[in-house]
Amino acid sequence: MKYATAQHRRAEGKAGSYVWATRSAAIVHLDQSALAVLDDFNAGRDAEEWMCAAADRRQSFDALAALGLLEPVDFALPLTPDLPAMPFPLGTLVLNVTNKCNLSCTYCYEYGEDRIAPTSTGPALMSADTARAAVDMLFTNSAGRRSLSLTFFGGETLLNFAVIREAVAHAETRARAERRRISFALTTNATLLTEEVITFLTQHHFGVNISIDGPKQTHDAQRTFASGKGSHDLIVPKIRALIAANRAAQGRPIGARVTVTAHSQDVRAIYTHLVEEIGFDAVGYAPVTSAPGRDYALSGENYYTLLSGFAELAEDFVAAASEGRTHAFSNLNDLLRELHHGVNKAHPCGAGLGLLGVSTAGEIGLCHRFVESGKHEVGSLTRGIDEERRRAFLEAGHISTKVACHTCFARPLCSGGCYHEAHVRYADASQPNLHSCEWIRAWMDLGLKSYARIMDANPSYFSRYEEVA
Ligand code: SF4
Ligand code: SF4
Repeated sequence: MKYATAQHRRAEGKAGSYVWATRSAAIVHLDQSALAVLDDFNAGRDAEEWMCAAADRRQSFDALAALGLLEPVDFALPLTPDLPAMPFPLGTLVLNVTNKCNLSCTYCYEYGEDRIAPTSTGPALMSADTARAAVDMLFTNSAGRRSLSLTFFGGETLLNFAVIREAVAHAETRARAERRRISFALTTNATLLTEEVITFLTQHHFGVNISIDGPKQTHDAQRTFASGKGSHDLIVPKIRALIAANRAAQGRPIGARVTVTAHSQDVRAIYTHLVEEIGFDAVGYAPVTSAPGRDYALSGENYYTLLSGFAELAEDFVAAASEGRTHAFSNLNDLLRELHHGVNKAHPCGAGLGLLGVSTAGEIGLCHRFVESGKHEVGSLTRGIDEERRRAFLEAGHISTKVACHTCFARPLCSGGCYHEAHVRYADASQPNLHSCEWIRAWMDLGLKSYARIMDANPSYFSRYEEVA
């Protein structure tokens, strides 16, 4: 049978290359002789004939075929399995405990021009009864899972601190009764952090993500109160107090979540401010989601600037990891973890799969960004999860429907990208985000090169990704 070299991406390493196989998502080090075999099959050739020419060839062939690096020419192997057995058990529920915010950030998808539901239909604050019912839904629809997580989102989540407390107490009671683990996470703009809130978050081991865009000038140009006043001076002392309390309690890392826009491009300066001047444990950058044409939207040139900033931080990350030290650039940390684990996504994220969102009124959406979007509703707390709509969405968003992605090496980790962004860009959540492919591929290449350099210098660094939670 005729075989040919399958799609893969290489990064040079000591005495060979690190090879990322698109089909299997395996990442392996191949020496020069294994690379020569791959190259031998570039144009396709008869496998039996090739193996018969030398005694040791069968083993090499079998190993490369098993990794998905050699594949038959005359019939197409299926891309990835179809949907997993449904209904898929929930692992994470995101509660939008409020749809109100005390800031008016320029790019906000919740209140800005790109909001999916033009006017909020639900109450401003989720009630305690709704929050408890949502927790019950998570526990009821998560058969087989020992560990669950509950994430609080908004609006500004801490505007509804009372209900967060109620939900946490209820979830902990259920977890104890069922001998399961529950963890909590929250995203906040930090304006409402008080001593009481900080004590609560550290006592319940919250994973906290703070939306902050960098040094005062950058942050205040984007993250303002309705009056136009920036929020930086108010939040920084509160964040420092949270970080100090969390360190004393040996809590989970406190992360900064930076929205990168056309007006905030200096990722190095942002990193220095957040890590060295404020003390964050992790910094993650998220390119702003917007329809084209917004003045803050990222264009081609901005993506290059962003990539060169990411490359600078990656240099520092590689230097630290090579000496066994951690580095707070969480985008690269997450990418390296996924590469190392051989993650191969049929869907870009957990939305609709292991993760659902709940609106203040109790409507169930695909994730926190889709709540109150009638078109993407998948049930309600009173009616339960609408499994038919959930399945239809997952079938439409499956990688097998995204033909443009089938020949892309970034497919195992990108899988078409965020549904919400696709909805904003193309009015169709199931479309691949083809406007950012160049950037995604360049970012994957940077991750692969970083992986190779760290693996060569200090392979034990990766043991941190192998620890069982
Ligand atoms: S959206 Fe673009 S980068 Fe992502 S998998 Fe599809 S083709 Fe590749
Ligand atoms: S659809 Fe987008 S915003 Fe929602 S969970 Fe997925 S990646 Fe996140």
